[in-house]
Amino acid sequence: MVKLGYIMEKKYFIVTYGCQMNVHESEKIAGILKEMGYSAAESENEADIIVFNTCCIRENAENHAFGNIGALKKRKRENPDLLICVGGCMMQEKDMPSVLRKKFPFVDVVFGTHNLYELPALIERRLSSKKRGVVSVLENEGGIVEGREPVRTSFPNAWVNINYGCNNFCTYCIVPYVRGRERSRRPEYILDEVKRLVEQGYKEITLLGQNVNSYGNDSGLMGFPELLDRVASVEGNFRLRFMTSHPKDFNEELVRIIAKHDKICNLIHLPVQSGSDRVLQRMNRRYTSGEYLEKVKMLRRIIPDAEITSDIIVGFPGETEEDFEETMRLVHEVNFASAFTFVYSKRKGTKAAEMPDQVPEEVQKERIMRLIELVNSQTREKSEKYVGKVVEILCEDFDAKKGYYLGRDVYGRMGYFKSEENKIGQFVKLKITEASGISLYGEEV
Ligand code: SF4
Repeated sequence: MVKLGYIMEKKYFIVTYGCQMNVHESEKIAGILKEMGYSAAESENEADIIVFNTCCIRENAENHAFGNIGALKKRKRENPDLLICVGGCMMQEKDMPSVLRKKFPFVDVVFGTHNLYELPALIERRLSSKKRGVVSVLENEGGIVEGREPVRTSFPNAWVNINYGCNNFCTYCIVPYVRGRERSRRPEYILDEVKRLVEQGYKEITLLGQNVNSYGNDSGLMGFPELLDRVASVEGNFRLRFMTSHPKDFNEELVRIIAKHDKICNLIHLPVQSGSDRVLQRMNRRYTSGEYLEKVKMLRRIIPDAEITSDIIVGFPGETEEDFEETMRLVHEVNFASAFTFVYSKRKGTKAAEMPDQVPEEVQKERIMRLIELVNSQTREKSEKYVGKVVEILCEDFDAKKGYYLGRDVYGRMGYFKSEENKIGQFVKLKITEASGISLYGEEV
């Protein structure tokens, strides 16, 4: 690791867009900058180096990033020593680094998702040369770098990558193009990391991968059910979650491991995306709605109190009213604990962006409103059943504006309560007095 003596006492600020994978990657970037001698800045204004960790899943996130990078132009002119670095998924898109350099020539370092750990060398190159703008984005994923400590920012929750990349090529998704093919970490590194986190007092660990179920397919060392079994066998008082599961690979062997361990939360995130077989096929999801429902039944047969959350896309190219009705029927039948609902948006470079029959925006909007209403009513109904019951939450934060401590139960519901003592990092039992949407309010018992 390059340590630059003359930047001691300087501060970093990281702006993160996108998913949990990116949030955790920003923790790794923070770890790299800390090793270089930087400390965390409270705000962008007091930072000496600003890193944008971008996302390209939706056009919105891209526009947002462009807007925020552009807003630094004046500050960079006033303070040429301010370092501006841009990394993340967006930089892996074809031609994007040159588009960015053209739009914002004041950016100092551009890097990709495959060479995060080169950041110190790239910063050094930028600092030691007069030439503005160092760009290094690798097309191929390369090996997995181990042994670097992230600066974790979500205590008592911790995120642990188990695999990277994706081989599935859903037709709407850019991830396989920007994150590369599946690569699994060796199980011993994952287990060591989890043991260390438990020793450090972390109480909730989430195993992360674009498709956790295909863990080990590339290395042949161990499959996901066995890995989950071993992680859940680590001693200590902690909860275990994982995401994301691809329905085509979600199987009984895995469910039996979930049932075997109390530590593994009985909340499964299983993105269905659509209830129409025609649309699922066009999405290249490689399961039918019938197969999805069979897996839901199998899960509930083995773990009767299991809850399911999902991702659903509305207005995929070619989606007819009938297709959408099938999605509504499936949502009725599964009765999700909650679901992230999205209006389909074109991603350049994906197959779906080239498909004919793009659904008009007004139709998409009308459909998503109906879907949101249905999902919200399911969530509300489930929340109301909590009133009068005692639930255990893991306290993770304090909302200073509202004056409430908050944390989630095993099913991901946010519980709010008042306390004179700092409860962050503790399991707290709450008697629920009120439910509002996915939020619960209660008193400590
Ligand atoms: S499984 Fe599909 S949606 Fe998920 S990351 Fe891979 S290609 Fe994208």
